[in-house]
Amino acid sequence: IGSLVVILGVSGAVTGLLPAFVDPTGSEWQAAIAVWIVLNQSVATADCAADRRVFVAAVGSVTIVGAATMLMGGSELALVLTGLILLGGLSAVSVYGAVHQATASAISGQLRSDELALSLHERQSELKAANSALTALAHGDVMTGLPNRRGFVAAVVDADRRLRGGGWMAIVDLDEFKLINATWGHPAGDEVLIEVARRWVVALDGGYIARIGGDEFAVVVGEDADLERLSRDIVDATADPITLRGGGRATPSCCVGVTRFDRGETLSDVMSRADASLFDAKRAGRSRIAIDGDVVSVASV
Ligand code: GH3
Ligand code: MG
Repeated sequence: IGSLVVILGVSGAVTGLLPAFVDPTGSEWQAAIAVWIVLNQSVATADCAADRRVFVAAVGSVTIVGAATMLMGGSELALVLTGLILLGGLSAVSVYGAVHQATASAISGQLRSDELALSLHERQSELKAANSALTALAHGDVMTGLPNRRGFVAAVVDADRRLRGGGWMAIVDLDEFKLINATWGHPAGDEVLIEVARRWVVALDGGYIARIGGDEFAVVVGEDADLERLSRDIVDATADPITLRGGGRATPSCCVGVTRFDRGETLSDVMSRADASLFDAKRAGRSRIAIDGDVVSVASV
């Protein structure tokens, strides 16, 4: 479009001014007006405001000088002026070219920076997604799908490693799990871990549970929860035999050590108390629950 405008503009100017040079009487004004219309139409096809401004200026000056030439009567002066007009036209063409090129490179520069911003944004989103995937991986136990020890700590404490709210904490540990591994093999032991974790999630019905060690799990529930009942449910759910993929049936059991905690206590204090309860429960036998020193018998097991 730019070249078209230039060609139309220059040829229109030359054609329109020629009569003024050859015969400086009569219809020169009409010719000048025709040139103006042709040029203005060409200008109208220019695709940006800056181009239009340059051409309106160029065409305006060409027309004014053309009119002056005609009034002066086609003399030598008219010849000189026509030459000047053509020169002016050529300058307008080169100005147009420069403006057009500057506009085009500004547009392509803008496009390039837009592309850059877009790809930067995409990279940022990818990084964010990769980061959250990494965090999920670092905070989760791949085998059971539960949070791991790191995830557990992140979930229950603030920056000072103090517990965010009051409630109950229990540590659940399988009884003689080494024996299951030794009898059925390590992969069978994994199957048992996966299955008991699944059952405990169901038994807790929304209560928080994480796998904090090999066969050790931590449970955290609110102050209003009936931890004795929940512990019994956990012990009962564990006792159902598990049919192993490689054949055979494992009959796991677990002990639960429970403690009550207040908001703002340190995690290590509370976990030490829960561990002490677990120790009491283990000392009493299989499938036992201890709540802050009191061992509870589990009738159904
Ligand atoms: P206790 O009744 O005193 O708890 O005895 P235990 O045999 O359960 O012994 P303990 O809890 O001290 O040890 C847990 C065992 O769990 C030790 C390790 O061989 C086994 N273990 C740890 N992680 C895994 C695992 O990811 N898969 C399997 N199959 N076994 C594991
Ligand atoms: Mg154990």
